[in-house]
Amino acid sequence: MSNGLSQQVIIVGAGPVGLTLACELALSGVPTRVIERRAWRTKESRAMGLYPGSMELFDSRGLAETFAEFGNPADRITLSTGGSVELSALPSRYAYLNVIPQSVIEEILETRARELGVEIVRRTEVVEFTQDETGVTVVLRTDGVQRQERCAYLVGCDGSHSVVREQLGIDFGGSTHQYAAMLADVRLAKAPLEKVRLTPAPGAVGVSIAYGDGWYRLACLDRSQPWSDEPLTMEVLQQTFARIVGYDAGLHSPRWLARFKVHERLADRYRVGRVLIAGDAAHLHSPLGGQGMNLGIHDAFNLGWKLAAEIAGWAPPGLLDSYEVERRPVAAATIRMTERATQMVTSASSRVRGMRQLVTGSVLRSPRVQRAVAARIAGLSTSYVDGPGEGSLAGSRTPGLTLHTVGGVPVQVHELLRNGTFVHLELRGTEPADTADWGELVTPVAGRIVAPGPWGAASAVLIRPDGHVAWSTTTVDDADRAAETAAAITTWCGTPYPGRRVPAGWPHDFPAEAPVAVLEVDLAITVPER
Ligand SMILES: Cc1cc2nc3c(=O)[nH]c(=O)nc-3n(C[C@H](O)[C@H](O)[C@H](O)COP(=O)(O)OP(=O)(O)OC[C@H]3O[C@@H](n4cnc5c(N)ncnc54)[C@H](O)[C@@H]3O)c2cc1C
Repeated sequence: MSNGLSQQVIIVGAGPVGLTLACELALSGVPTRVIERRAWRTKESRAMGLYPGSMELFDSRGLAETFAEFGNPADRITLSTGGSVELSALPSRYAYLNVIPQSVIEEILETRARELGVEIVRRTEVVEFTQDETGVTVVLRTDGVQRQERCAYLVGCDGSHSVVREQLGIDFGGSTHQYAAMLADVRLAKAPLEKVRLTPAPGAVGVSIAYGDGWYRLACLDRSQPWSDEPLTMEVLQQTFARIVGYDAGLHSPRWLARFKVHERLADRYRVGRVLIAGDAAHLHSPLGGQGMNLGIHDAFNLGWKLAAEIAGWAPPGLLDSYEVERRPVAAATIRMTERATQMVTSASSRVRGMRQLVTGSVLRSPRVQRAVAARIAGLSTSYVDGPGEGSLAGSRTPGLTLHTVGGVPVQVHELLRNGTFVHLELRGTEPADTADWGELVTPVAGRIVAPGPWGAASAVLIRPDGHVAWSTTTVDDADRAAETAAAITTWCGTPYPGRRVPAGWPHDFPAEAPVAVLEVDLAITVPER
């Protein structure tokens, strides 16, 4: 690159978060390089599933069907003590936990990243870096040989032991538990009927998850056993799992056995100047509920378009800082949620176990509670109330809306986001809003929504590239709405100026005429009564 930069962005770490971020930046035309210490992709399954919120994000980039093809859909999380969390009742095209090993997710993401032109440099580690007003100088090491590269921004997606976080001096406060935690991918002679089954026991919890190909992920958290750094054996796992679930499931043929520590930690900052962190580098929590990777993927979708906007030069003031403003509270809430859930399911106290029985046996049967719990676990209820949006829908996620074009062909609104642009929905008139001054930054669409609540009442909505609502209005008067629309797009995409029509960094082709469409949506949620 002519400006002395070897890349605009260097991402440290080719885990699921680094690869997702690389795809997002590349989609926005930002030259990106991923530096990965490992020579090869990991074969460890680690995280085992994508929740509906993540599947919808990937749907907005055309990848969800690929993940679905390689996954095993689980409609619910069943508690052995009675009760379940029903994901199948959620208002989503992907109303299930897509059970799929992290290694497969990384393979799919890496393939997409390479297709988009991302350079992935393996067997190379980031050793240190310094930053100044114009960029970041990064020291890399390959086979013991060091060299320097310079980039405009550096993002640490380098996991729990993040070098980037440490060198920035970011505090990673929290706690690390010293009890036994183990997991394995095995086959079972006596497999449970449920695809995802959680068995609480006094002081412990056991989890079994079916990959759908005969393999099972087993996990045990056992407060009665201290942490050990001895390699996990089948014998220890067999005994621990049988003691927790109350029967011998006939574990055999392990392909992966691991111990891990449970941490609850949150970085006190996500950005220092031109260097940012995301994923496990920024937050760690109990694995119960399988939230870790999903949380990091949402970080990457939030950060990608904002960093691209900053680099392309159209980001309004504060946009990049809104990454931390929006994502850090979500991580803090997830840490609290998983910590409480872990305490509740593993408690040895008869009082807490009594409460748990009440929650799973009775409270979870309330459709309202069931819906709220399922949506929270699924990642469908995240709303950026502290973000800069305006209007009754601002900050909320765009739900799965079916769009019927004038020609009658149904399209999902999430699919309108596939080029990584803003989408403006004109919901009263039949003409798309005039967004020509912002060129390829905004895809304008006209149509209607039939839905209860604020979506039904909205007359126009501006959706961000990550699927969250930037702005909405209920103004009926056409001229007033057009003026509000222009003001909202200016807030988010900057003031129009000559030449803006083809901004640097947004090289994707769009249809010459924006589609005129009628939107129809059914947001009714039904939860089966037990
Ligand atoms: C044993 C185990 C089981 C888990 N089970 C689940 C689960 O069931 N569900 C769930 O949601 N989550 C689970 N997780 C958590 C999940 O794996 C993480 O949340 C997820 O991997 C985070 O992705 P990431 O990209 O942020 O970090 P990582 O996946 O850790 O990726 C970081 C990458 O950065 C590379 N790297 C690090 N430092 C450097 C450097 N200096 N230079 C170059 N490269 C570097 C590493 O080699 C690595 O590839 C589990 C984690 C572990 C350890």
